[in-house]
Amino acid sequence: MAGIYIHIPFCKQACHYCDFHFSTQLKKKDEMLWALQEELRLRANEFQDTTVSTIYFGGGTPSVLSASEIEQLIQTAYSHYKVEESPEITLEANPDDLSSQKLTELAASPVNRLSIGVQSFFEEDLKLMNRAHSEKQAKDSLKQASQLFSNISIDLIYGIPFLDDAKWETNIKTALSYGISHISSYALTVEPRTALKKFIEKGIIPDVDDAQAEAQFQHLVTSLEQEGFLHYELSNFGKPGFFSKNNSAYWQGKSYLGIGPSAHSFSGTQRSWNIANNAKYIQGIKTGELPQEMETLSQRDRYNEYVMTGLRTMWGVSLTRVSEEFGSHFKDYLLQQAERHIAARFLFLDGDTLLVTKQGKFLSDGLAADLFMLPLKKK
Ligand code: SF4
Repeated sequence: MAGIYIHIPFCKQACHYCDFHFSTQLKKKDEMLWALQEELRLRANEFQDTTVSTIYFGGGTPSVLSASEIEQLIQTAYSHYKVEESPEITLEANPDDLSSQKLTELAASPVNRLSIGVQSFFEEDLKLMNRAHSEKQAKDSLKQASQLFSNISIDLIYGIPFLDDAKWETNIKTALSYGISHISSYALTVEPRTALKKFIEKGIIPDVDDAQAEAQFQHLVTSLEQEGFLHYELSNFGKPGFFSKNNSAYWQGKSYLGIGPSAHSFSGTQRSWNIANNAKYIQGIKTGELPQEMETLSQRDRYNEYVMTGLRTMWGVSLTRVSEEFGSHFKDYLLQQAERHIAARFLFLDGDTLLVTKQGKFLSDGLAADLFMLPLKKK
């Protein structure tokens, strides 16, 4: 079982907080479509004996493509890979691209899961973040999408300056009113070299308030659990049967092939990443040479990754797996490092599995870092 991730590196405009790889110049769209299909063909040998169970269009904004362009990419994947009978095919989409006609066309295509970048239902938040859509577009697209798709995820952002707790509560309730089965929710983070960072430095908008972000996160967890959602990964909540298969496979260490500029791939022992530059990516594909770099993960890297992703998920970190895959000294080290966090009630052991407690959840990345096996210092 494995997944294919296809990165569509175009957006209509730059959101103020975003540091992903994308271009707002759509001039090279046709060339890019050709290159993506070519990369799918060139790399088919990497998945010769592997069945593909998920195809995921991420970005950027994949919904800038027409339904037929998306279908063309899916057909290329079908012609060169062994794809299972009912794969999960997800399209990340922004509300301003989801007109009634586009949604109807997408519903008739092999895409069977939409991940809609709503972020907030308040106009002032959307403006502050420079999102391309309006509150009305978010609501209209969800109303129609929920009639055409049974598997919809919504993205929501908390910790936005001026998003008080009452507005956050409204955002959660509004999202739930569409009967959706999955929510991905992230704290607004201030990345270097973003417009958001500059606005905060210049005092144009206040800095994000970590305490408020944590309170909004805890409120989200409680509200969604009451509605029957399972908090299966730090930022992801799904009704039973509606977890993202693509992302779950990624968190469980399965292989995936990342197609397109800046896309990452993982083979179980090696990680590779494509160049994050559209023109150079296309040029590389034209010469038949994959514009990518690769690293082989050491045993320590793989242990660290497993601890990091394991602690973020409801599956936790299995001590048996650590012992079997990495050796008993890794397990001893893990338990020794975890001891003080268990005493502080941020971590707990459920039989053989190490998990974060409710109060440890928001801190899980920092807790994981404390359990990492660091390189030995050179003398
Ligand atoms: S639409 Fe998504 S990828 Fe594009 S700029 Fe906004 S957050 Fe970044």
